Amino acid sequence: MKIGVPKEIKNREYRVGMTPAAVHELCRHGHELFVEASAGLAIGFTDMDYRDAGAQVIETAREVFETAELIVKVKEPQPEERAMLTDHHTLFTYLHLAPDKPQTDDLVTSGATCIAYETVTDVHGHLPLLAPMSEVAGRMSIQAGAHCLEKALGGRGVLLGGVPGVSPARVTIVGGGVVGQNAAVMAIGMGAHVTVLDRNMEVLRNLDHLYGNRITTLYSTAHTLEQAILESDLVIGSVLIPGASAPKLITAELVGRMLEGSVIVDVAIDQGGCAETSRPTTHDDPTYVVDGVVHYCVANMPGAVARTSTLALNNATLSFIVSLADKGPVEAMRDDPHLRAGLNVYRGKVTYREVADATGYAF
Ligand code: NAD
Repeated sequence: MKIGVPKEIKNREYRVGMTPAAVHELCRHGHELFVEASAGLAIGFTDMDYRDAGAQVIETAREVFETAELIVKVKEPQPEERAMLTDHHTLFTYLHLAPDKPQTDDLVTSGATCIAYETVTDVHGHLPLLAPMSEVAGRMSIQAGAHCLEKALGGRGVLLGGVPGVSPARVTIVGGGVVGQNAAVMAIGMGAHVTVLDRNMEVLRNLDHLYGNRITTLYSTAHTLEQAILESDLVIGSVLIPGASAPKLITAELVGRMLEGSVIVDVAIDQGGCAETSRPTTHDDPTYVVDGVVHYCVANMPGAVARTSTLALNNATLSFIVSLADKGPVEAMRDDPHLRAGLNVYRGKVTYREVADATGYAF
């Protein structure tokens, strides 16, 4: 199969759909790879790296779209990319169609087969192509939070791990899923005093089993949450109720009573955030202060570590790309219900119920 990897054109997107290692793997399976010039340059993958891996490097996105049948990207296609999609194409990328009717309209019109990373499932009912970005954001949240605790950013002037003779910082993680567990790993590693709250006892049992007395686990109620937050230096917001906006567990009134200079890193901001005082920020201007509490609410945290994020994403997508290319999209999805769960638009029809409901298409 002819596989194309265009350079991402969304503002400040430095990730790339396939690494040279992934290209090499697909070439070994006998496929032809077409990578747009400088597609991976911003994160250290040169055109020579892609050539050495077996790809043809071609100058323009138009040539990539005209040549390839399977297009592998990272972000949703932008309007100029959508204009190049036809019914010959299979598109494999993050789409997030439900809140984006213009994109849905264009993909329906294109006739292309569009498979969204974010709705591909696994045997446990999890979302394996979203998990790597949650792992990145969870680990980064502690890095970002530690930085925000410094005085220059309005923080309390507290070092996460303390030093001999001085207590470590208190970190409270609200939601012990993928983001929360990865935040916990980092916070424990940096020597902080870590508390994780969740409403799922299995999650708490698992954390207790893994970290024993290096962590405190609490069943999440309004009462336990309030107590933990009021004595915290750093709060990580990492709750998720699938398909719903994040619950506003941290009220503005509670924020008003938090320690002066404490920090909230609201990772759940892409679902609206779990603090009433949270609003989305960008890497250019990541923080603001409410009632003396520093808020870090970047909606696209993995973008800041685009090389790590690209490698992590490729680890998760590679087996699906191989399957799509080896069998062809129809056969691959027939064989694998988890890949089929990723199908959002197929030959002019919306094939994912939530997207159809949100955008007014028949299902
Ligand atoms: P997840 O489903 O693995 O974990 C969410 C956890 O929240 C679950 O364990 C659930 O039991 C828990 N939860 C639900 N209600 C709760 C409550 N009332 N109190 C305490 N815990 C509760 O989800 P995840 O992959 O960890 O993602 C968490 C959030 O981070 C999502 O909104 C996701 O979209 C977001 N995210 C943001 C970025 C970013 O760049 N900002 C990147 C990746 C993920």
